Amino acid sequence: MQIYHDKDADLKVLDGKKVAVLGYGAQGRAQALCFHDSGLDVTVGVRKDGASWNKAKEDGLKVAEFADAVKDADVVMMLLPDEIQPDIYKQYVEPNLKKGAALEFAHGFAITYKLIVPPADVDVIMMAPKSPGDMERVVFLEGFGVPALICIHQDVTGNAKAVALALAKGLGSTRAGVYETTFDNETYTDLFGEQAVLCGGQTELIKRGFETLVEAGYPPQMAYFEVLHETKLIVDLINKGGFELMWHVVSNTAEYGGMTRRERVVTEESKKGMESILKDIEDGTFKTQWRQEWADGLVNLKKMEEDEKQLQLEVVGREIRQLFERKN
Ligand code: NDP
Ligand code: MG
Repeated sequence: MQIYHDKDADLKVLDGKKVAVLGYGAQGRAQALCFHDSGLDVTVGVRKDGASWNKAKEDGLKVAEFADAVKDADVVMMLLPDEIQPDIYKQYVEPNLKKGAALEFAHGFAITYKLIVPPADVDVIMMAPKSPGDMERVVFLEGFGVPALICIHQDVTGNAKAVALALAKGLGSTRAGVYETTFDNETYTDLFGEQAVLCGGQTELIKRGFETLVEAGYPPQMAYFEVLHETKLIVDLINKGGFELMWHVVSNTAEYGGMTRRERVVTEESKKGMESILKDIEDGTFKTQWRQEWADGLVNLKKMEEDEKQLQLEVVGREIRQLFERKN
């Protein structure tokens, strides 16, 4: 993979250019504030009756309604929830997008699955920080940046990559390394990661571990500490130094037990499950199902959220975390 650093990116590419950041949530707020601090001319585009409008104003940024923000922007950043993007694009972006502007994304979903089909006379790029927004901002304020991906889907100006790299630099990401890939690869691997391992896989693993201990008669509080609370300590070690550091830091007993037992939990069957998750992503099955869910007003998703809140693991966890807060 091609990796870019500070020396490969030049913020001057954006001198005198207007950057419209549409959306002021997890990504929009972090990116808009960092760009502003990096000297870019940023306008936040949000709806007037939403909570973001005042928030962006209070943060000292220029704020406009979607259409006004897009009108004279040279870079239009789609930092809205993926399920909202196609409507906002049709209504406000497409009719106002300047010829030769760059349409930018932080995730490939809308482009890969053709929910947004941009005109042929604009650049289409991605700059996807590999981090939640709030962490991006913290790391930037510490003088560094989080790693990011860039992708070029359409380059009519010949400048598309330079703009994507400049945006990455504005977020500090070229300090940590910027990797070039394609929209499709970013979309498929990002969805796979969150479904199979990070969000889906991990919660299910924790949930099953908790159930096993509690069903065997152990106190739920102990189960909580052993299967949930300590995951952070272990994941931090893996993040810092790979499996090697983690195995080095935990006890030899934990290392031997973990290495000899783990395949009883994550089995060949689990791997087949992962392959079927990837297939659903690549062939559009997941996209179709998720779009239907938007169309239905996210009713199933809201129900699943409610059910999950009632899990004993979550009830016990809320109580325990409250005790932590009081002590600190
Ligand atoms: P958020 O859910 O945080 O976006 C919230 C923003 O969208 C708010 O400004 C909100 O405005 C606005 N918004 C929500 N609904 C509507 C609506 N119906 N009409 C108009 N505005 C609306 O989004 P994320 O930052 O999580 O995601 C943005 C993009 O970044 C996505 O493509 C995502 O995949 C990608 N991404 C996200 C990451 C993350 O950290 N969450 C990580 C990497 C990529 P209001 O206050 O008016 O409601
Ligand atoms: Mg991701």
